[in-house]
Amino acid sequence: MQFKLKNINDWSYYYVPELEQRGIKHGFFTAKSPSHTLQGDEKAEFLGAFGLNDFVIMKQEHGVDVHVIQDGHRPVSGDGLIIISKDIAGIVKTADCLPIVICGMDSPVVSIIHAGWRGTAKKITKKAIEKMSEFGVNRKRITAILGPSIGPCCYEVKNDVRNVFMEEGFSDDIFKRKNNTLFLDIRQANMEILHNEGIEDIYDINLCTRCSRDIFNSYRGGEKEKRQINFVSLTG
Ligand SMILES: [Zn+2]
Repeated sequence: MQFKLKNINDWSYYYVPELEQRGIKHGFFTAKSPSHTLQGDEKAEFLGAFGLNDFVIMKQEHGVDVHVIQDGHRPVSGDGLIIISKDIAGIVKTADCLPIVICGMDSPVVSIIHAGWRGTAKKITKKAIEKMSEFGVNRKRITAILGPSIGPCCYEVKNDVRNVFMEEGFSDDIFKRKNNTLFLDIRQANMEILHNEGIEDIYDINLCTRCSRDIFNSYRGGEKEKRQINFVSLTG
């Protein structure tokens, strides 16, 4: 499977066509993204462009709360969403943090996660997989997609961050060192979680938002306000 860049309206986003053919509509937007509030005309435009009835955008907290969108329940805050109904999208906003889409390939269950370093260290990815299992998803039939995030080339951290990951049982492989400076590989950290959960089918777009700040909003690249959005939904 391969990522492709698609233009629609004034927007552009990366997606995996094979997943879309299997009824999993999703996208990792570039900086040419709908605004992260998605209100008014823009809301209607977004819903129309993707054939959606509704979406959920939460107040993100760098925590591990993963909510299921069901029975009319619309979670207000958290960092992960599980979707089990058709034509409703789960959306996360990012500008360096890692968006992850997790797909149950044999079951109509998908999830989307906002994984910054705090959420990653607390293993929000594991939490999402556990929750998907409650809905009958077979771990051997899960495909995980890692969207654009800041890479180990640019994500300088201090030892206090490393200590948190070490306490949580991560391997030292998730850190790179260059001239006595420490860098976190947040993609590798999440891959480690996925592997430990028995997930092998992982696609990594491997784009650094900070290196590519002509394409993406990057918080560390100086963009403190704007975010790009990422979404996943199930179609009929
Ligand atoms: Zn970079």
